[in-house]
Amino acid sequence: MSRITLKNVTKEFVTRGGHRVTAVDNFNLEIQEGECFSFLGPSGCGKTTTLRMIAGFEDLTEGEIWLGDKPVSVKSKNLYVPPEERGLGMVFQAFAVWPHLNVFENVAFPLRVKKTPRDELRERVMTALGHTDLQGAEKAYPSDLSGGQQQRIALARAIVTNPRVMLLDEPLSNLDPKLRESMRFEIKALQKKFNFTIIFVTHDQSEAMALSDRMLVMDLGKIIQTGTPREMYQDPANKFVYGFLGLSNFLRVRVRDGRVFPAEGTIQPIPFELPQGVSDGEGLLASRPNEIGLSRTEGTGYPGRIEKRLYMTFCIEYHVNIAGQVIRVHTPHGNVLPEGCGCFVQFRNPRWYAGESEQVELER
Ligand code: ADP
Ligand code: MG
Repeated sequence: MSRITLKNVTKEFVTRGGHRVTAVDNFNLEIQEGECFSFLGPSGCGKTTTLRMIAGFEDLTEGEIWLGDKPVSVKSKNLYVPPEERGLGMVFQAFAVWPHLNVFENVAFPLRVKKTPRDELRERVMTALGHTDLQGAEKAYPSDLSGGQQQRIALARAIVTNPRVMLLDEPLSNLDPKLRESMRFEIKALQKKFNFTIIFVTHDQSEAMALSDRMLVMDLGKIIQTGTPREMYQDPANKFVYGFLGLSNFLRVRVRDGRVFPAEGTIQPIPFELPQGVSDGEGLLASRPNEIGLSRTEGTGYPGRIEKRLYMTFCIEYHVNIAGQVIRVHTPHGNVLPEGCGCFVQFRNPRWYAGESEQVELER
């Protein structure tokens, strides 16, 4: 009933200057009933547009959207079911509540729009307030409540219509980190109770990974990869996904006779087994800072030099120069190496990406 299917969905906008923008480019996707599914991607990649098409706020340039066995948008047949008949709950861009309405009226709003009878309305609102720990607060105004309680008003409003599908568009983006984390739990707890399907839109990879059963990474309107958070983290389809799902180093390397060198003219290869069929040329060796070993013992890894050391909350960060390129290495506290010293680097789980060569940059 609450499965969501997108078939060849494309959305083009024509800007005021007359340019065509393909915001969503031939999307094919099936989200299962009861799944928590995240859309992850950089700003402007088409996440909101996709959600708005599913909600029915935006028509399709091409393709079809189905909710369960029911088509709700089919371009070729000019079929279009309006948002209020799609049975969706929505929270768009930072849980907004109306400051001039009390808690009860904030939550009751979607039911008033549907002209729900008075007794039923009261019962539903009180139930939704119960599920979000807001019982007793119905007469209060949002400004009387804490930030966390205000967010829960918006959650209560989203569940009051008993939706089978919940669309959440960056709902946590304006919250401070602590509140963000507790809201993640509340969303998961509500999903457990009601078993609705969730589409969660975010540009924050750790949020997507923490919340989702499955997720997709998109860029420029296209799906790049779909999978469970674990699959995506461990086996990123390309450099973009690798870089998006965690901290990363991309070391520019040269391949000669099946061996990998960090620069032209270096004699010692980096120990790495290239995938089948890689021919000589350039490529990238991707690694995660926390998947690199560092030691001063000769022969334990590839030689480098420590340029900089930073103390961070969870680790020590080293900037290590390898044949002219700098990579980041994160090690546990306790194992302290001095700046300026020679060291040996072990890449524990590097990945090979062909083609795109790119300057290695440190953000700090
Ligand atoms: P995201 O939510 O991932 O940040 P959006 O879906 O909001 O991305 O936007 C995707 C692309 O579509 C962007 O290039 C954006 O400028 C464009 N876009 C979105 N809405 C409109 C619109 N109403 N008119 C023209 N272009 C739009
Ligand atoms: Mg958006």
